[in-house]
Formats: sequence, C-alpha cells, structure tokens
Amino acid sequence: MTIALYAGSFDPITYGHIDIIEAGQNIFDKVIVGIAINSEKKGFLPIEKRIELIKECIPNIEVYSYKGLTVDFAKEHGATVLLRGLRNSADFEYENQLAQINSKLDCNIKTVFFTAKPEHCFISSTSVKELISYKQDISDFVPSCVIKNLFDTI
Ligand code: ADP
Repeated sequence: MTIALYAGSFDPITYGHIDIIEAGQNIFDKVIVGIAINSEKKGFLPIEKRIELIKECIPNIEVYSYKGLTVDFAKEHGATVLLRGLRNSADFEYENQLAQINSKLDCNIKTVFFTAKPEHCFISSTSVKELISYKQDISDFVPSCVIKNLFDTI
C-alpha cells in the first residue's frame, strides 16, 4: 500500500490543490493532507478552519496539522511519497530544491510532481487572499464553501 502525503499551507484550499489531491488518489492507494504549522506566520484562516474546508471539498480525506520536518511527519503516517504540484518554472526551481533536501533527509521518501491543469496555473492561495480583500469574484479559484468562509473572515 503506497501512501502519499500532500503537504502545504492550504490557506485556503483552491481548485489547484483539489486537482492535485484527486490526481494523487487515482494513482496512490491513499493520499493524506498535512498542514504545516508555521509558528512565525499567523496565516489568514485558522488551522482548524483550513482542515474543515479541505474535508468539505474532499470527502473522506485524512487531514492533519504538523510541526517539524515533513519527512518525519510522512514517516509517522507511513507515507513514502511526497506529492507536490507544479504551476510554472518558478515552482519547479523551488520544489526541486525542496525535493533534493527531503531526499537527503530520507532517501526512502520520494517526491512526485504533478503538473497543474492549464486552467489552474494562475491560481495560488496568495492571489485568492488578495482578491478577496478587494471583494472580487473568486469563483474560478475556490469552491463555494471556501468563498463563504473567506467572506466571513474579512
Ligand atoms: P500556495 O503555493 O498556493 O500557497 P501551498 O503552499 O499550500 O500553496 O502549496 C502546496 C503545494 O501545492 C505546492 O507543491 C504547490 O506548488 C502546489 N500548488 C499550489 N497551488 C497549485 C495549483 N494552482 N495547481 C497545482 N499545484 C498547486
């Protein structure tokens, strides 16, 4: 049984993230989502709300928050694959470096990249937060349950 961990901040989850999770579910036996807690950064949505929204978008998915190294969290959950998404060459530069470091930390855990769908390449959680602060239409970026919660936050 191959378990893949999809780690990120998911602040908030977007259609881009959802697509990567679903693609992972089609290939691996199980995909779990890990929200990395960054004690230096408060974030836009509280961690509990991010978990709730991911579960609302993807039924039956396991979602956890974690502190510390992603490879350690992966091992705790029996994951041998780190799932990542690539939107463009800038993502590749960053993600490739991260993958090399993680491979150095634990050579048994492999990073697998999925490319974003063309219609998702411009979507980022950062742009969603920027647009919502100007009360713009973000229905192409995130599902309706996420939109409602973002409007409640601003
Ligand atoms: P963001 O970069 O939007 O803040 P995260 O830190 O939560 O998102 O990213 C987690 C993973 O999801 C990273 O591998 C990132 O490249 C990928 N990702 C983010 N947005 C998209 C998207 N629109 N399409 C595909 N992958 C994405």
